[in-house]
Amino acid sequence: MYTYNRFMNKDVIIVGAGFAGATIANLLANKGYKVLVYDKRNHIGGNAYDYFNEDGIIIHKYGPHIFHTNFKEVWEYIKQFDEFFPYKHRVLGNIDGTLVPIPFNFKSLELTHSKEEADLIKETIKREFPDKTRVSILDLLNNKNEILQKFGDYVYQKVFVYYTSKQWGIHPDKIDKSVINRVPVILGYEDTYFGDTYQFMPSHGFTRIFDNMLINKNIEVKLNVNIKDHIKFNENKVYIDEEEIKCPIIYTGAIDELFKYTYGVLPYRSLDIILEKLPVTYFQPAATINYPTSELFTRISEYKYFLKQNIQNKTVIAKEYSKAYRLDSKTDPYYPINNEINNAMYARYKSLAEQYHIYLSGRLAEYKYYNMDLTILNAMKLADNIINLLKSKK
Ligand SMILES: Cc1cc2nc3c(=O)[nH]c(=O)nc-3n(C[C@H](O)[C@H](O)[C@H](O)COP(=O)(O)OP(=O)(O)OC[C@H]3O[C@@H](n4cnc5c(N)ncnc54)[C@H](O)[C@@H]3O)c2cc1C
Repeated sequence: MYTYNRFMNKDVIIVGAGFAGATIANLLANKGYKVLVYDKRNHIGGNAYDYFNEDGIIIHKYGPHIFHTNFKEVWEYIKQFDEFFPYKHRVLGNIDGTLVPIPFNFKSLELTHSKEEADLIKETIKREFPDKTRVSILDLLNNKNEILQKFGDYVYQKVFVYYTSKQWGIHPDKIDKSVINRVPVILGYEDTYFGDTYQFMPSHGFTRIFDNMLINKNIEVKLNVNIKDHIKFNENKVYIDEEEIKCPIIYTGAIDELFKYTYGVLPYRSLDIILEKLPVTYFQPAATINYPTSELFTRISEYKYFLKQNIQNKTVIAKEYSKAYRLDSKTDPYYPINNEINNAMYARYKSLAEQYHIYLSGRLAEYKYYNMDLTILNAMKLADNIINLLKSKK
C-alpha cells in the first residue's frame, strides 16, 4: 500500500467535481485534510450543474435533475448546503395525443379506455391485487386473468416499447422483456413520479450546493484540467506531471478514458439536450412530458417548474434526444450500458485501477446507473475509508 506523502501540499487528489467528488472532498476537508480537486469542465457540479439564463430561468445543463431519496443520512447530509423546499415531481405521457399520468395509474386508465372497460379493469385489479398499491407491468402480463394480461400488454406497448427503443437506440423487437419488471403501474390515483420519503429541490439550484460543499480552506479546485493529459502509469506507480503520487487518488470520471482505452471503449448512451426559449408563461401542464408513442425525442422538461419560478411570458423547454456515445464526436458518456460483455470489460479496468491503488467512485467510474442519492451515499462511505486510511498513516 501507500508510503503516504503529499502532492503539492495535498493529502488527497480527487478527479471530478460532481456529487461523488464533491462529497468526498467536503468530508475530508471537514476533517482537516488538504484536498486537490481536478475537473476537466469549466464548472463544478458534474452532470447536476445548473445555471440561471438571462431571464433568470433555471437551466439544468445536462438534463433535468430532481432530488429524491429514501436514505435519511443522505438527506441529512445534503440539506446542510442550502435551503430546500418540498417538491413532488409529476410526469405526464403523451399517448397518441392524450396526456395521462406516468407512471400509468387509474386516471391514465380512465383517460385511455371507455368507462366500461376501465371499470372492469379496476374491479379485476382490486380482486387480483387486494393489498397492493403498485405492481410491475410483468405482474400484469403474467397474471392468469386475461383482462389483466390485455391491460398489461396495453401499458407495455403504449408506455414502454417505443420510449425504450428511443432511449437505448434499439428496435422495439429487440427489447429485452426482462427489464419491464422495473416499470410500475399504480393501482390507484397517486400521481407523483417518485415514491421516495425525501423529495426536495434546492431553492437556489444544485450549483449553489456544490459551491457550499467545496468552499473550504482545505479544498483547492482546478477546472479545465483533464487528468488523462497529466497522469502516467508505470510499474505500479502513478505520476502526475512527472511527479510520483503517493497520496490517495479518487477518480470519478469514465475509467476507460483514464487508462487511455487500453481494453477498448466502454459503451454508453448519450444525450442531445435541445433548449427552446418560448414567449409564453408555461408551455406544458407538467414539469416533464414523456412521448412514448410519437416523436424522436423522449421527453420535454420545462425547467421553471423545478423552482416553481413565477416569470411571466417567458419559459425554456428542453427536448432530450438519446444517442450513441462516440469517442470521436463531442458526446458525453451519460448512461452505462450494463451487459455481460461491457461489465467484463469494466472489470478489467477496475483491476487496473486497483493495481495502481486508485479509488473509484460515482456513476462513470463505477459504470453503474446511480441516482444522485446513491452516488452521495457511496461517496460518504468511501470518504470514511479514506479518512481511516489517512489516520493510520499519520
Ligand atoms: C440526463 C440525466 C438526468 C438525471 N436525472 C437525475 C435525477 O432526476 N435525479 C437523480 O438523483 N439523479 C439523476 N441523474 C443522475 C446524476 O446525474 C448522477 O447520479 C450524478 O450526477 C453522478 O455524480 P458523479 O459525481 O458520479 O458523476 P458526474 O456528475 O458525471 O461528475 C463527474 C465529474 O468528473 C469530471 N471528469 C470526468 N473525467 C475527468 C477527467 N479525465 N479529468 C478531470 N475531470 C474529469 C467530469 O467533468 C464531471 O464533472 C441524471 C443523470 C442524467 C444523465
